[in-house]
Amino acid sequence: MNQQQQNKIDAAVLNVFSTCKVRSLPFSCQELLSFYGYSCIPYNSLSPEKQLACTTISDDAFCLNHTVYYNSNTAPFRIRFSLMHELGHICLRHTSVSGKSQSPEQEANAFASLILAPRMVIHYSGCRTAEDLSRVFQMTFEASGYALNDYYRWYDHILRDKMSPLDKAMYLHFYDSEKKRFVWNRTICPDCQSELINHSSCRCPECARIEKEQKALDARMIASQYSYRDWETWLPEGFERAEYRYLYGDMY
Ligand SMILES: [Zn+2]
Ligand SMILES: [Zn+2]
Repeated sequence: MNQQQQNKIDAAVLNVFSTCKVRSLPFSCQELLSFYGYSCIPYNSLSPEKQLACTTISDDAFCLNHTVYYNSNTAPFRIRFSLMHELGHICLRHTSVSGKSQSPEQEANAFASLILAPRMVIHYSGCRTAEDLSRVFQMTFEASGYALNDYYRWYDHILRDKMSPLDKAMYLHFYDSEKKRFVWNRTICPDCQSELINHSSCRCPECARIEKEQKALDARMIASQYSYRDWETWLPEGFERAEYRYLYGDMY
């Protein structure tokens, strides 16, 4: 990918963010496509004949008459990438003729990777492993590994050449003048309804702690039920049993 292509993709991603007012990641891929007038239809909602025809065209997704058809039998994170790959073709104005060469496919993949996890957002998220990236940006491990490598390439360029005008525009898009910081994620805690900023888990720390404690308690309850049953199955008979009763009372 040459610098000209890279700039074109960076500009296209930024344009989608400002047009669709994307201020929090991860976002709904289907909502973005509907903003551009495209509806999404899963293969499995079609007749068996049509499903077969779809899988012959693509294992993942394809675009036809303002509709993106996608294979719903694949992993949800892979579907997100496929939908953004199709948005890439739309925003980069790839025609069906240009679609036959390799370059538009590479560009659409680069667009999908960048829009799902912009390198500057990766930087501010603090994610530095493919596992973290996958969880926070809802991408497959494979896509996360690629995005992470590309993040380091981007970071080297920032250190060496400083921010480009496109980098500055990306920074300004996510800069919250009220909070005086780069804000890439805004959510509401489902339990206490408090506002969460730049948070990589779905609950606030306090509700996450309560949930963790509840889960640990549940796990102990389940474990104690099982161990009680295990205890009964290996319990010795006769004398040993009497000895156990003497030692441990009416425990069993
Ligand atoms: Zn494609
Ligand atoms: Zn909460």
